[in-house]
Amino acid sequence: MIRILCILLFATNVAANDVQSEINRVLHGNTTYSESVEILARLEQQMPYADVQDDAHVMAFKCWFSNTSTPSGLSEYKHFLETAKPIIQKANNITLKHELAVCEANQEYTQGDYQTALEHLKPIINTTSVEKTTSPKQLSTIATAHIVLNRIQLAKGNYQEAFDSAKTAYQLFEKAGNDYEKALALKEIADIHIALYNYELAIEQLQRAKLALSKFNEQEQYKVLDLLAYAYEEKGDLIKAVELYESIKKDVRRFESDNGYAYILIKLTELNINLNRLSQAEPYLTELKTLSVDDSWILTLYNFTKSEWYLATAQLQAAVTSHEKIAGQQQSWPESLQERYLNLTSQLAAATGDTFLQITSQRQLIDLINKKQQALANNMLISARLNFNYEQQNREITRLEHESKLQQKLLAVAEDKSFWQGLTVMITCLCLLLFAIYTFKQVRQKKYFEILALKDELTGIPNRRAILNLKRSVMQQNKLNKQVSSLISIDIDYFKAVNDQYGHDIGDELIISIVNTIVHTVRCSDRVGRVGGEEFLIVLENQSLENAQEIAERIRLSVAEKEHTSLSISATVSLGVIEIAPNETTEQAAKRVDLHLYKAKEGGRNTVYS
Ligand code: GH3
Ligand code: MG
Ligand code: MG
Repeated sequence: MIRILCILLFATNVAANDVQSEINRVLHGNTTYSESVEILARLEQQMPYADVQDDAHVMAFKCWFSNTSTPSGLSEYKHFLETAKPIIQKANNITLKHELAVCEANQEYTQGDYQTALEHLKPIINTTSVEKTTSPKQLSTIATAHIVLNRIQLAKGNYQEAFDSAKTAYQLFEKAGNDYEKALALKEIADIHIALYNYELAIEQLQRAKLALSKFNEQEQYKVLDLLAYAYEEKGDLIKAVELYESIKKDVRRFESDNGYAYILIKLTELNINLNRLSQAEPYLTELKTLSVDDSWILTLYNFTKSEWYLATAQLQAAVTSHEKIAGQQQSWPESLQERYLNLTSQLAAATGDTFLQITSQRQLIDLINKKQQALANNMLISARLNFNYEQQNREITRLEHESKLQQKLLAVAEDKSFWQGLTVMITCLCLLLFAIYTFKQVRQKKYFEILALKDELTGIPNRRAILNLKRSVMQQNKLNKQVSSLISIDIDYFKAVNDQYGHDIGDELIISIVNTIVHTVRCSDRVGRVGGEEFLIVLENQSLENAQEIAERIRLSVAEKEHTSLSISATVSLGVIEIAPNETTEQAAKRVDLHLYKAKEGGRNTVYS
């Protein structure tokens, strides 16, 4: 009898360990998606277990595999909940109850029901005993609740709250020792920066996530690189985006269905069209035709790209046909896609001579850009770098508005005149319009390259040319308005040693991290530029020497206090400060501030000399 009891107990224990350790393998990032699905199927097949705890574990785990985005998926999920809840109730395990509630909240968030989602999260997030909690499982559950909360806050536009939740999640995953989920939290933070149009910071987080995830299952790399490519694309660095999509193409083919692979090919086609590399775009389109795509979202993107392709290759009728397939769905699209749609519509209208449609879509485009501008202005996390783009975009809007008014006036005149006069005016209009479109395209292209030419590629801040131009114009303003301004010259200490010890990539990461620290330490009106490899210049308009000294000291401290790069290395900077003298030339000022920087280096580095 005792022997049988022993065997039973032993068997139960083994089963418990099996179930939990299998689930843990997935939760700690050791399996690809298809392997995780296999594990779930195997665990489910062995139900019921001797211990109801195991059944409950499997149910809480299974919830995360539900897909509620289709009607059949949704009814399956509801049926699943009916089965799962009594089992978890019976196990009477608070952590598992919480785990199911977090998953339910996530499903409700996906459905757009934020209120119900928040109610599910409340008791878990309000757990006052987080400090006392040491169970990794419990900590991870609370952390996951914060991840879902972060997504809800982001969807509601509460960026600060979203950021706080993502940060809390990161810290809790760290406490739980779950490096995998911790790295995934970085992706959530990147999502917030993307929503704030702050692509440099998003890229910084994604680079960190990429490094942190590299030791987990092979699927993780391409998922983060996909997001990274998107951030580069939105930042305007299309070439880098193409490179990244190209680099993950093979893995996506391996792990994803035709729909997922089609997405990458669509992106590569779209970007190559935008880069005016039509011959490079064509093979992707040909390959796309061999896939069976049935996801409605991917089909929308496909038709978008097809229409753009036909327009670029002057196949107007085909372009219009593809365009018609996507018309009327705009409301549910993200802003960037709406912008792309209006651009396409306006260009198509111009090509087919539909002046009315052209004007309407241009006006909608202006409204959309204006709305985006306001969002930009309201975001408190926006840095000085974005301000730089912001001015460029304002000029773009003024020009678009001007063009639209001009066209409207021309049309009004045409309508008032008699038939022949009208016809003459119409023809003139058309010529002017064609000319306007031509110049519009030219100017847009030129603007785009101008912006590129003024930005430093690595850090996104003004480059040498841009910051020196700015210095010159500030010095002219000084003379006119009799104001004083100051300059700070910064150089990273012993930077060569960082390159030598950790490699060039970490060197680059350090430059980016220090630039971010500097930009967040100064005000928006203080312009930071990269003048050389690891040298930077700050132009402090309307600021006295005293203020400049204070700012320089603040920068010195912030850089020294922070841990930089994915390897958490320490770094310091030396700073030279001057107030620009009234009769000084730009060259004299440059020499003087460099001399001060040299003195700071001579004085032992990690110092400010003024
Ligand atoms: P000091 O404290 O005197 O400034 O020493 P340092 O080592 O920082 O100064 P040095 O000027 O000798 O070294 C600068 C190094 O920066 C040399 C160059 O190879 C490296 N560098 C320049 N541009 C870049 C870049 O974009 N990325 C990386 N990783 N390194 C760069
Ligand atoms: Mg140097
Ligand atoms: Mg240096």
